[in-house]
Formats: sequence, structure tokens, C-alpha cells
Amino acid sequence: MALSDKSNFTNPETPGYVGFANLPNQVHRKSVKKGFEFTLMVVGESGLGKSTLVNSLFLTDLYPERQIPSAADKIDKTVSIDASTVEIEERGVRLRLTVVDTPGYGDAINNQDCFKPILKYIDDQYEKYLNDESGLNRRHIVDNRVHCCFYFISPTGHGLKPLDVEFMRALHNKVNIVPVIAKSDTLTKREIQMLKAKIMNEIDDNGIKVYHLPDSDSDEDEDFKEQNNSLKQSVPFAVCGSSQLIEVKGKKVRGRLYPWGVVEVENPDHCDFIMLRSMLITHMQDLQEVTHEVHYENFRSERLAKSGGGTAAVKTSAGKRKESSSDKDQILQQKEEELRRMQEMVAQMQAQMAKKGQDV
Ligand code: GDP
Repeated sequence: MALSDKSNFTNPETPGYVGFANLPNQVHRKSVKKGFEFTLMVVGESGLGKSTLVNSLFLTDLYPERQIPSAADKIDKTVSIDASTVEIEERGVRLRLTVVDTPGYGDAINNQDCFKPILKYIDDQYEKYLNDESGLNRRHIVDNRVHCCFYFISPTGHGLKPLDVEFMRALHNKVNIVPVIAKSDTLTKREIQMLKAKIMNEIDDNGIKVYHLPDSDSDEDEDFKEQNNSLKQSVPFAVCGSSQLIEVKGKKVRGRLYPWGVVEVENPDHCDFIMLRSMLITHMQDLQEVTHEVHYENFRSERLAKSGGGTAAVKTSAGKRKESSSDKDQILQQKEEELRRMQEMVAQMQAQMAKKGQDV
């Protein structure tokens, strides 16, 4: 399903808001002209609020035709992969965002193999990139590699479930995993703090490597350093989403209405939604770089080792790239040389014909 939607992200009333228009500060001007390509995967049991959160994050309905499966449908359901692409533009900055949903994950009675289709999807994108990179059209590669995976943890599970541990351990060397606690409005502040600490301990105890937010450079300004520190301390982000706009003190806000009040999605005192969005935007480039330099390179080395290119697998990333494409480069050079000779011949013939014409 491919959608095209132009959404306006500007919301000056939101404190600490970082929009996509800030992306050019991070990257090269050429990328601004070309636009950004980013793929986000969301994984977690159904009903944890994944689609609602994604729609709240990007203010667009990514799943207009989605059908909610019934309990009977879920019993022996296998995991499917559902990629939706939207083009978002904000103040002249274009973002081609692909969100990969994984409906059916964790829904079956036996969830033993349910992360395998997800693993395969991630590998398939690396494989495609590897083929494109060594092909003739490598300047115009569409990058569909998964740059970030939001892993949704249930707020009612008292920590990580065995499936959560199994999934993260199977995928932490393949993709940047960002753990999030779903539906945080169902917990009190104290419960959130306790659950966060418990999850982080379990992540450490099980040797899981979640995405490590980069440290700020010493020359960054103090505000940025402070923001980065609070982003780091917020992991796992406790978030809530909503598709409803509710009026609070004369202002329309995205929130969830309870008999005792409103939980505002974009209020940093109520949940980490703003933190999660800031993390995604401020570190979008880093997420892409880690995907390319660490996860993709792991995949490439393994792939080369399997196909007998073991020696190439231990070289530096630049060296490896050169080696894998050197045959193609050589063929390309030969063709270019041939073309140049033919052009010279045509030019000589044209000159001769012109001379003959003058002589006649
Ligand atoms: P998905 O299956 O993970 O994509 O979940 P959905 O986004 O379809 O949400 C499932 C149900 O949970 C819907 O009824 C949503 O209204 C509700 N929901 C979504 N996000 C939240 C949240 O943050 N808090 C609460 N309390 N409910 C939510």
C-alpha cells in the first residue's frame, strides 16, 4: 500500500518540539534536495497501540483501510509484514517515510517462530541493497533497509515477557531497537519508573543491545547536551497515543479523555511521546549511519564469508565496498573506453565527410 500525503508538522505551541524541518541541520544539503528516506518498523502484540502511536507521531493516517482481526482470526495467525510509505513535506524538506507494521506478532498460541518473518524481511532489504550497490545503477538506490525498530512492551506484563527477550536477542545485531512501554496512561508515574528500571535491568541481564543514543559532542551547546541526556534517561520511552483531539483550556490537544481528566499525548509531564519523537528526529541520521556501518556491514561480511569471500569480510567498510564492486567497475571502464573510441571514430568520419563536401 503506498500513500501520498503532505502533512504539516508545525506546532509552535508544543514545548521542546522538533520538526522535520530541522533535519537539514544534521545532514548535507544534497540530501535536503533529494529528500530523506527513512524506514521505521513497529513490533509488538496487537492492541498495544502501535498504529495509533504511528499515526500520532506523523499526523497522518497510515492505515486507512486496516481491518482489526477478531480473536478467532488471531488464534493461528502467522505474522505478516505490511509496509506503508508516505511522503511528508515540511518547510521544503521532504521525507519519504516507510512504516513497516508486523500484524500478528505475538498473537498466536504458539509464538515460537513469530519473529522469523521479521528477521527475513530485514535480511531481504539488506540483500536487495547489496545487489543494488554492486549493480550498475548504484547512484539511484532506493534505501528500504529498516533503520529503526520500535519494540512495544506491554504495560501490564511486569517487565519483559520471554517473547520480548527472544525477539530482542534475535534482532539486536540486525536493527536499531528502541524499546517503548505502550499505553503508559494506564500506569501511574511511580509504576512507570519502576517498570522502566525493571526493563532496563532485564535488558542488561540478558545481554540485549538496544539502540545506544550517541553521546553529545563537547562543542554542542548546553541545551542540546541537556536534551540528549534526558532522552537517554527516558529509555524505554513510556508513550501513549490518540487519534482524538480534545479541548483543554480552550486549546485542542491530542489526548485520551478519562472521567478524572485528560491525558495529553504531547505533554512531557504526561508521557514520553515528545521525547520519542525528538529522539527519532534528532538521531535520524545516526540511526541511518548505524544501520549502514554496523548492521548492514555485519550482514555483508556474513554474506561474503558464506559465498567464499572470507578475506574480504575482515576488511574495512570502504575496502569491502571497493572489492565487491571492482569487477563491475572494470567492465564499466571497458565499456566507457569502447564508447570513447567509437565517438572518436564518428567524429573523424564526420570531419572527413565535411572535408569531402567542401572539395566537391
Ligand atoms: P495495534 O494493534 O497495536 O496497532 O493497536 P491500535 O493502535 O489499533 O490500538 C488498539 C486499541 O488501543 C484501540 O482501541 C486504541 O484506541 C487503544 N489505544 C491506542 N493507544 C493507546 C494508548 O496509548 N492508551 C490507551 N489507554 N489506549 C490506547
